[in-house]
Amino acid sequence: MNEYRVSGVLIPEDRLAERVREIGREIGRDYAGRELVVVGILKGAVVFLSDLLRAIPETVDISLDFMAVSSYGASTKTRGIVKIVKDLDGSVEDKDVLIVEDIVDTGLTLSYLVKLMQERRPRSIRICALLDKEERRKVRVDVDYKGFSIPDEFVVGYGLDYNGKWRHLPSVHIVEQE
Ligand code: 5GP
Repeated sequence: MNEYRVSGVLIPEDRLAERVREIGREIGRDYAGRELVVVGILKGAVVFLSDLLRAIPETVDISLDFMAVSSYGASTKTRGIVKIVKDLDGSVEDKDVLIVEDIVDTGLTLSYLVKLMQERRPRSIRICALLDKEERRKVRVDVDYKGFSIPDEFVVGYGLDYNGKWRHLPSVHIVEQE
């Protein structure tokens, strides 16, 4: 059978909530009194981002923008192709930018996005990623704010999907092939 199913919980929702609050406080300390453009990467980062935004104290002057990049589609294997499906609405020139991503795997997506963003001359760029599969890395990516390091498993839930499904699950689960 080539069916996929969601297995047990890898990261339960209370641990996600606790860690997201910690990261929000950390971002609050680092950017207090400053303007920050938060760039959410659609669609996977949306659930994480919406919790993270509300965990960042009001001392940070936040504006929000989004980018959409091509994803894995119906396969769990990376194609190494990054395509911008939706670009930013605003300019990031001379601004502090925080890219918020759901998961870093090979690192290809984020290293491409950082290069692209650098060409737009922001004042600074930092990366925030909820999950990191360090052992899968092909290119170096400096993750400034990281939620959790996870093993080399395909995960869904808390915004992450398999073939468009399971984004709405409140916890992070491993997907298994039956
Ligand atoms: P990278 O370019 O670092 O290899 O891959 C990053 C993107 O691949 C993520 O933004 C995400 O869309 C997808 N991805 C990588 N690993 C997983 C995973 O375990 N589960 C899900 N749902 N997506 C993943």
